[in-house]
Amino acid sequence: MLEELEEMENKLYKLNEALWDHIPFECTKCGKCCHGVRFINLTIPEIIRISKRLGLTPKKFVKKYCIIDGYYIYLKRKEGKSGITCVFQENNLCKIHDVKPFQCRFYPFYSTRQVIYDTIIPKLFDVRMIRPIIRVRDFDILFGDLLIFLIREPECELSKNIWLNINDLLPRIRPILMKIALLRERLLFNMYKNIAYLMTEILR
Ligand code: SF4
Ligand code: SF4
Repeated sequence: MLEELEEMENKLYKLNEALWDHIPFECTKCGKCCHGVRFINLTIPEIIRISKRLGLTPKKFVKKYCIIDGYYIYLKRKEGKSGITCVFQENNLCKIHDVKPFQCRFYPFYSTRQVIYDTIIPKLFDVRMIRPIIRVRDFDILFGDLLIFLIREPECELSKNIWLNINDLLPRIRPILMKIALLRERLLFNMYKNIAYLMTEILR
């Protein structure tokens, strides 16, 4: 079962790389992506990979760096120089960059169904204003964090690149985003279906 999840995760990481080939930009490593109240949710293969990289057992890694909330496992946050940030951020850099979780690699895209659209976004923006730019269905599934990012980090080259090229970019990245959303959903579904067993296995 774990192998199956790992296989799906590897495919996901490859799709994500293909996505970023379409959106080249120079990250100035300002560190803002890791700030704020975002929670990084880990999958079981990610827990295993990061633990190995840190030379810890999954159990020790989870105890030291994670918060367990029901069946969800998140990275801890800490108070940094410029506010709350991820436990692995140091001097604006990621200490586990080579093995960082999918959620960080994919950010500011975020694969979710209705949740953000139904709850947070309508409180912040008039959704009708963005409908002509981003089709609602794409937005529902894929653009939760992206919109917040574009507004929060207008100076970032990534924001400018996406915003200025959105019409040209969307048709090219939409098929990849759809594949990512569906695969991620399948992975999470399979993982949560067997989560009790998986957690007992890796955290024993
Ligand atoms: S906000 Fe932009 S420049 Fe800063 S870390 Fe994120 S991607 Fe890099
Ligand atoms: S794991 Fe790394 S990239 Fe992800 S939020 Fe933490 S410091 Fe940032």
